[in-house]
Amino acid sequence: MADCLFCKIVNREIPASIVYEDERILAFNDINPQAPTHVLVVPKAHIATLNDVSSQDDQIVGELVRRAAAIAKTRGISAGGFRTVFNTNREAGQTVFHIHLHLLGGRAMEWPPG
Ligand code: 5GP
Ligand code: ZN
Repeated sequence: MADCLFCKIVNREIPASIVYEDERILAFNDINPQAPTHVLVVPKAHIATLNDVSSQDDQIVGELVRRAAAIAKTRGISAGGFRTVFNTNREAGQTVFHIHLHLLGGRAMEWPPG
């Protein structure tokens, strides 16, 4: 989609530090990391928010989650623990309207989140 930051990263119009790619998924390091590991896992196809996910997207959403866990394993943070987050819309702090699963780890985290 034109004017979508993460579509531009998917299309290599904007550079990113890519950590994983396949036909349907791209994962890259967050530009403003909030933890030693902070990776964004995104579908290559544009979906604006979780509110726009349909049953047709069940496969890709499952792949995003499983890929985040696989990346956590490669980073050595599986056993210690990690956090996965989808922010949706304004009150959750969503700033890029192309769904992305945050994978955060490598430090202790608190709950509830701010
Ligand atoms: P949100 O607030 O929408 O859940 O998360 C958006 C994330 O995208 C933020 O953590 C932010 O640091 C990250 N981000 C924003 N612009 C860029 C960029 O150009 N490149 C990368 N790699 N991450 C970005
Ligand atoms: Zn997009």
